[in-house]
Amino acid sequence: MSIFDEMAGLGHEQLVFCRNDSVSLRAIIGIHDTTLGPALGGCRLYNYASEGDAIRDVLRLSRGMTYKAAVAGLDLGGGKAVIIGDPSIKSEELFRAFGRHVESLHGRYITAEDMNTNVDDMAQIARETTSVTGAAQHAGGRGDPSPVTAWGCFHGIRACLEVVYGSPEVSGRTVAIQGTGAVGYYLAKFLHEAGAKLLYADISEKKLKKVVEEFGGQIIDNDEFYSAECDVLAPCAVGGIINEATIPKIKAPIIAGAANNQLDHEERDGSMLERAGITYAPDYVINAGGLIHVAAELTGAPKEKAMADAANIFNTVKRVINKAKAEGITTTRASNRLAEERIESVARIKRLHL
Ligand code: NAD
Repeated sequence: MSIFDEMAGLGHEQLVFCRNDSVSLRAIIGIHDTTLGPALGGCRLYNYASEGDAIRDVLRLSRGMTYKAAVAGLDLGGGKAVIIGDPSIKSEELFRAFGRHVESLHGRYITAEDMNTNVDDMAQIARETTSVTGAAQHAGGRGDPSPVTAWGCFHGIRACLEVVYGSPEVSGRTVAIQGTGAVGYYLAKFLHEAGAKLLYADISEKKLKKVVEEFGGQIIDNDEFYSAECDVLAPCAVGGIINEATIPKIKAPIIAGAANNQLDHEERDGSMLERAGITYAPDYVINAGGLIHVAAELTGAPKEKAMADAANIFNTVKRVINKAKAEGITTTRASNRLAEERIESVARIKRLHL
């Protein structure tokens, strides 16, 4: 398939190939849709096996960002960038060269941290462009997005509880958290403060020890996570863990966690969950707190506004689940439709030439 056909298939506006041989920069910026605002999305550094793999990744990821921003109600479009290279070889010049390419797009694309890039790399990019976000607190940024992500996830869990049990009350409910890292830690904190009983699974003894010491609860074997007797499974570690092998084991009526790409196969596994009567909060809806945090950094909105917007994920998750029920579709399909409907209606009001 030609690159233009691939772009047309996913609805992309623009794909930008960036080169600077003096620093071995080979990067691709994907701009999926800018109807709602500038295309925002992280910059991933990865040693792709082929250019084709890099192109497919940037097309897929930038499209995902359009949907995430649209459902979160943000004035942002979807974008992503990939730098093709060895993550162990980084330099000031590499990121500054990339930053200059970002700047050449005059704000149509805004970059941020992603896989194998960090706040220090963003600081180098920021020397060449203002279209970068997610800087460290000491460099004028907002710092760690994880508390905001966890806050949004907490409210998404409450929304699922209300749909399934008729009350959003967390107290007395049991939540199993897989992954007690940055997001899982704060999620455990918020749930503990609200009176939930907690179960934890992780591959890190150290992380487990910390949450049990601080918030109580019980450690379970990572393999037992799926069959845990609880009200909510909250995946907060890795993707692809909800699949044909794990779904038959699930006893919880709700899956609501912050991990990205939880479903191994979106259509197949989404339908399987629906048939099993399990309520699934689509990952990109419930984990949008991180993006909300970054968007607030861009607009200069106070931290309290970001927290309030993240808490509003409660209403968004409920809308998604109700739409799925009303239209007889999976929750992921329902959230995709909500995103598309918002983009289409905003496009209509933007027809007026100013
Ligand atoms: P993290 O690296 O801080 O924590 C991940 C935790 O998962 C660690 O404690 C790790 O030991 C554990 N883990 C890794 N592999 C595991 C496995 N196979 N089984 C069980 N535990 C495992 O990462 P994070 O920032 O907390 O992010 C967690 C997830 O949430 C990721 O999927 C991430 O993409 C997603 N997410 C994070 C944010 C954010 O603001 N940090 C925003 C949106 C989405």
